[in-house]
Amino acid sequence: MSKKLIGIDLGGTTAKFAILTESGDIQQKWSIPTNIEDEGSHIVPDIIASIKHRLGLYGMTPSDFVGIGMGTPGTVDKENGTVIGAYNLNWKTLQEIRKPIEEAFGIPFDLDNDANVAALGERWKGAGNNSPDVTLITLGTGVGGGIIAEGHLLHGAAGAAGEIGHITVDPTGFDCTCGKRGCLETITSATGIVRLAREMSEEFSGESELKNMIDDGQMVTSKDVFDLAKTEDDFALLVVDKVCFYLGLACGNIGNMLNPSDIVIGGGVSAAGEFLIEKVQHYFEEFTFPQVTNSTSIKLAELGNAAGVIGAASLALKFSENNK
Ligand code: ZN
Repeated sequence: MSKKLIGIDLGGTTAKFAILTESGDIQQKWSIPTNIEDEGSHIVPDIIASIKHRLGLYGMTPSDFVGIGMGTPGTVDKENGTVIGAYNLNWKTLQEIRKPIEEAFGIPFDLDNDANVAALGERWKGAGNNSPDVTLITLGTGVGGGIIAEGHLLHGAAGAAGEIGHITVDPTGFDCTCGKRGCLETITSATGIVRLAREMSEEFSGESELKNMIDDGQMVTSKDVFDLAKTEDDFALLVVDKVCFYLGLACGNIGNMLNPSDIVIGGGVSAAGEFLIEKVQHYFEEFTFPQVTNSTSIKLAELGNAAGVIGAASLALKFSENNK
């Protein structure tokens, strides 16, 4: 019988799990709430208990599995199998992850940063078509990313490679949580888009439902901005155009530097769909030179929330006999 993979996508509110075939098809998935109390000390034991419970339910044993992979927030030390600084999990100090999980199951385990793991997922089973050169940009509450170049996930000297959200796109722009200013994240994250809309509304004098909502003190989301732009609200279109200008600029620089076959855009903001991609593409063409313009595609992510568990599971493929 062919062996299986386990993928874990650990987040601040839930931990998602999936059992997959070695070709990346999800056979089962489930999730548990993440208990971040007591400095996050319950998280790893809860993960172990949940997998044990699931294996018991279906009469599976560790020998049915090639490996376990996990994506996690924080700074990951792949060598030692540890994580530090995952503040949304209350993991401020160094956490042993691989050791207790391998001890519990005797199944090989690997882990990586959650954004990197999502990039692996989109590359393997999503918009990346298993290409060796794929960059993922995730537009959510913040902006994250992961870079796969010539088949390898890039980590960099301090594990900070692929932090696309902190590319400077406007040197005189908004302050960022990282301590710099004008980072891509300050403009193109869900919160950044709303902040940009609020700032730009002060200068706009025409008729606009979006401007009326802001002037009225109503709650405005990045989805409202895109939805109104799609109805040709003049002001919403201006905001979206500016967001896409900065995204196109960042994608252009990524393209000129790495020339990936695909720059995949995911995260909640990407629900705006082809409307977003077309506008980013327009500026991408302006900011790339012909060889890159013609060989790098801007695409929508395809896997949604499943990118994390699929990418995490792909970390375990290296333990497979088939890959040796
Ligand atoms: Zn920043």
